[in-house]
Amino acid sequence: MSGHDPDCLFCRIAAGEIPANKVYEDDDIVAFHDINPGAPVHFLIIPREHVRNLYDTDDGHQALLGKLFGISSRLAREQGLDDGFRIVVNNGRIARQEVYHLHVHVLGGPEPLRAAAKPAP
Ligand code: 5GP
Ligand code: ZN
Repeated sequence: MSGHDPDCLFCRIAAGEIPANKVYEDDDIVAFHDINPGAPVHFLIIPREHVRNLYDTDDGHQALLGKLFGISSRLAREQGLDDGFRIVVNNGRIARQEVYHLHVHVLGGPEPLRAAAKPAP
């Protein structure tokens, strides 16, 4: 597959080399539950292609980016989030991105969510 980084955790999850609780996958994207959820429902949507973050994207990624966001509401509903959810993308060092493979966080639950920003370490 193009853009696979064998040293990247999320590339390896996408390839099925590392187990994850997947909620969706197709030829372009994979979605799976976060191993350390920050909300009652917390899953990640990633491209199969190894893209470090939004700085790594260009006009050629518009369809892929559209897909990552476009499927979020459908997957959120399937996970029981029919009263709102939050999308978070931690992009780069200042946002304390931990895994350098682009991912969209989808968070929700029965109660109103607290502030989105990561607390100081
Ligand atoms: P970031 O801080 O890069 O935006 O978020 C990375 C997310 O990946 C974190 O919420 C973290 O809990 C999650 N994560 C890290 N390692 C794994 C893993 O091995 N499996 C799963 N399912 N999630 C992971
Ligand atoms: Zn990767």
